[in-house]
Parts: sequence; structure tokens; C-alpha cells
Amino acid sequence: MCGIFGYIGSRKDAGKVVVEGLKNLEYRGYDSWGVAWKSNGSVSVRKDIGKISDVRSEDFSDECSLAIAHTRWATHGGVTKLNAHPHTSCDKQIAVIHNGIVENYEDLRRDLAAKGHTFVSQTDTEIIPHLIEEEMKTTKDFAAAVRAACLKIHGRFAVVAIHAASAMLVAARNGSPLIVGVKRGKGEHAPALSGVEGYFIASDIPAFLDQTRTVQYLDDGEMLVSDGKSIFFSDIRTGEERPKREIEIQWTQQQAEKGAFEHYMLKEIMDQKESVARAVNQDDAQIMTLAKAIREAQGTFLVGCGTAAKACLAAEYFFSVIAETHVNVAPASEFKLFHHFLKPESLLIVVSQSGETADVLEAMRVAKSAGSKVLAIVNNEGSTIAREADYALRINAGPERAVASTKALTGQLAVFLLIAYALAGKLQEGKTLLLETSAAINDLLNPRYIERLKTLAEKISAKRDIFIIGKSWNYPMALESAIKIQEVSYIHAEGFAGGELKHGPIALIEEGTPCIALIGKDEVEGDSISNAIELKSRGGYIIGISPERSDAFDEWIRVPDATAAQAIVNIIPIQVLAYFLAVSRGKNPDMPRNLAKSVTVK
Ligand code: GLU
Repeated sequence: MCGIFGYIGSRKDAGKVVVEGLKNLEYRGYDSWGVAWKSNGSVSVRKDIGKISDVRSEDFSDECSLAIAHTRWATHGGVTKLNAHPHTSCDKQIAVIHNGIVENYEDLRRDLAAKGHTFVSQTDTEIIPHLIEEEMKTTKDFAAAVRAACLKIHGRFAVVAIHAASAMLVAARNGSPLIVGVKRGKGEHAPALSGVEGYFIASDIPAFLDQTRTVQYLDDGEMLVSDGKSIFFSDIRTGEERPKREIEIQWTQQQAEKGAFEHYMLKEIMDQKESVARAVNQDDAQIMTLAKAIREAQGTFLVGCGTAAKACLAAEYFFSVIAETHVNVAPASEFKLFHHFLKPESLLIVVSQSGETADVLEAMRVAKSAGSKVLAIVNNEGSTIAREADYALRINAGPERAVASTKALTGQLAVFLLIAYALAGKLQEGKTLLLETSAAINDLLNPRYIERLKTLAEKISAKRDIFIIGKSWNYPMALESAIKIQEVSYIHAEGFAGGELKHGPIALIEEGTPCIALIGKDEVEGDSISNAIELKSRGGYIIGISPERSDAFDEWIRVPDATAAQAIVNIIPIQVLAYFLAVSRGKNPDMPRNLAKSVTVK
């Protein structure tokens, strides 16, 4: 959840480097920030509540070649300056940043307190530098002390630590992402011998994309030690070396920047002019193999969290309507309870933008322990989920940085549609439909259309509630619409299956309540219009998102007729609407309160 960024190398402005890098990770958590750097044999720490984007990197001007920085997404202890990372040991020699939860922190804290350690924060994290300090009483080797400390911690974590008396940066991971960016030196900072200018240790690739595209992945249960010229990976438990390959990432820095757009969210919505077509660009043979795996599986389960869970729900309709194939859907956080249904012949399909979502990883592990196969649909190449799955399909959306997922969702939907068409023996038909849909999205996202949605958002932005209805695959999109509106605008929004309203929720409709109806030209079109009329009769202000105008609509937002891909085109105006609802209410859509991108804690 949080952002971790560390640097060790030949540059002398490491403080500035890590603050700049951390700004690229602010989407992961932003309640507080902190930096620790090593200069003249001592460790200095600065931290505060607020956003890293408000911090000036030039203010970190001490000459140093080793620094670590963190943006926090609080799990234990309130959002205060004292709780912000880095945390330090009693002697202030050790500084640690951490992502995750130390599940046994209360026991460890009690033990350490009995040994004389004093704590200043309410976090679970603070026990880590004290544990390392305690270990250093028996071993003088900093890396060995970090290793010993990690073995005492229960739970998922990523940790980066520095010590005033050591020239090393030490990092370890068990369940939370940590990726190494390797910068080869050619420029002014190039060292003579190793050819390496420095190493970036971060929780996500966009953090260092402006510096390098060469990465090395740290896996669970592994740690690394670097002096800035070389890096050594090992198993935390055994200490054995774990040699790593260097991998070149395809993403470009330009893809990760917001360019002329005020917010990443709008930029990423606009990226859908191309990203849907990129999602379709899959290897036919692999799609056919996966379709076969689904056909032969004894039980196929689809899981995801949040928006990705809605993609799974839409896929249930795709598989039913297009391929007449039964699948089961569950939120990843609930999947564990269904483990009785898993056999070695079962298939779990997991969906995650980041490829690091903790609940999804847990669902995968549940399936693996039953011997079932796992297919991952991810955006982040090289992510833990992609690497641990038996099969992985990338949606190729490019970096998604806004917390509110937009282009990742439409990529996930496109991949699911491809698989459904392949299952039905009509892969080429599915491809053609999706490429036509992509072209239609390109036309749709024109300045006039965007302006129209902005005006509509301004008109309804003061409303207390917004309801969204849909049937068939538009039902999961109604649920997704609610998430999108809630998370960025903080308006109470709820999505329903159109036919469900009259069984309760319709009591909430008052004169002028905005009700959005997501409709397609399909077998449930008539029923959907009837549902919209039922709402209108109770005073609802009906916004129809549909290929065709209807008298039921007070406002009509036109979308192309995309047949089975209607879910993809119908969600796009909602994304734009949610964006402008946030902006017109003075909220920053890229940084919704209480949320973080990439939920790496359970
Ligand atoms: N559990 C730690 C805390 O609350 C780390 C949270 C994070 O991952 O940012 O400080």
C-alpha cells in the first residue's frame, strides 16, 4: 500500500533522488512521508504528515549516496508525525521503512521493552529497528541483524533499512512488493569499475522509470544487500545466494506521466482510446490454450478485489451468454471459504491491476494448496501474481497511477471477452468486435463529449445520492459505477441490478434523485427501460447511458452499440462523470481519502 523508495549508488544527492522517486509513488499512500539519509557517518531523518508532493526535493541537499523514503498508508496508529516512517532504533543509528503489518508486534514490543527499548510511536513498524538493534548486540554485521530480525517478524512485509556505521542498504520482502531498478552508468555519475551508477529499491516500477528500465525482482522470502556498486540477493532463511536476471521493462516514462492532463485519472481514461486495442493484442494460441483449460476444468472460479471483482462479475455474464460456460465468482477476500470446492482439476482465474493485491495472492495460495491451476490477468508485468501463476495474461494497459482504476478495468473486460469468444470457438469474431469497440471509444472520447459530461457532473454534484442500474453485464458495471463515484467524489452512490430496485431500494428515490441507467441493445433492453421508467415515476432524474434515446431519459448520454462489449463502452462515460464530480466538488481524484492504489495488506 505504502510507497517505498531507496537509493544507493555513486550519486551524491541521494536525498533528492529518493524524494523525487517517492513523488512517483504517492498514489500508493499519502497520509504522511519521511526520508532518512546517511551522511558523515550518521543517519538523519525528516518526516511529517501531509503529501510528499508538497515537499521540495532541493531541501534535501546534504551530500549523501544512500537514502530511503516512504509514504505511509496507516494500518497501526493514527496519521501523526511520530507514526510516519522511517522509524529509528534507540541509538538513532538504524532507520527503517516498512510496508505491511507486523502481526506479532505486540509480543515483540513487550519483549523489547523488557530489554530496555523505548518506543515513541503507536506503529507496528517501530519494533523493526529495535529488533535489528537488539540483534546487533550479538552480531556486528548489519545485514545479518536485519536477516535475524526478519525471521522474527510474522506477516507480510517489505522492509528497507540503513545503519549509520554500515555502507550497505539492506532490504527484505515477504509478501509486499519490492523491485530493484539497476542504472548502468554512462553519464556524469558513472563509476569507473562496476559500470553501475546505482540501485533504486522501490515498491513499484513507475517510481524509477525516469532513471532506468532494467529491473531485478526480489521474491518472497528473499533479501538484498547493496553497497551501490553491486548487489547480493539471498534467501532470508538460509542465507543462500539467489542469483537474479536483469529484465528490461517495456513501459516508457512517457506512458507513466500525466502530460497535459491535470490528473492521472483523466489521462488514464483518455488512454482507453488505445489501451483496449492493446489488451486485444494477445497470442491466439495462448488464448486457445486457456479456453481449453476452462473447458476442461472441474470448476472455474474468478476472483478479484474492488474494480477487478466487478470485471469478474461481468465475465460471468460473458461466459454464460457468449460461451454457455458456467463459472463461479467471488471477491478474493471471501474465496478462502470456498476451498472445499477446489480440486487439482479446478481452475482459479485471478484479476489484479497491480499483480500485488494481498487478498488475491491469498486466494491464489488457497488454490495452489488444493493443487488447482491458476491463470492471472494482470497489468503489471513481472508482478508477484503474474510470476506465481501457472498462466499469465497481461492487459497491456501501461502504468495506471490514479487510485481509481479505469483503463485497467476495460483491459480486463476485453481479455475476458476474448477468452469467452475463444471458448465459443469464435476468437476472430471477438477480436474484430473488440477492435471495432476500440475505434468507437476513440471517436467517443472527443472534447465535446467530455464537455457534455462535465456539465452534467456540475449539475448533479451537489446531490446526496446517485443510483445506478443495469441488467446483464451492465449490472456489474452499475456496481463499478458506484465504486467510481464513491471513491473520488465521496457522493453516496449505489449500483443495483435493474430488477432489484422494486424489492427495496426504490424507497430511497426522491424528487430529482439522479438515477443512471446503463443500457445496451440486447435482449434485456426493454426491461432496462421499464426499470428506468419505474424510477422516473417516483421522481428520479433519469440519465440514460445507451446507444439509443428513450422517452424515459431526462438526459441521454450516447454510447456506441457495442453488442457484447457494451460493458466496456458504457463504463467510460461514468468514469468521466465520476472524475468531474470529484473536480467540481473540489476533490483531488488522484488521491481519494483513506484509499491507496495496490492494496498489499489484507
Ligand atoms: N503497518 C505500518 C504502519 O501502519 C506500515 C503501513 C504501510 O504499509 O504504509 O505504519
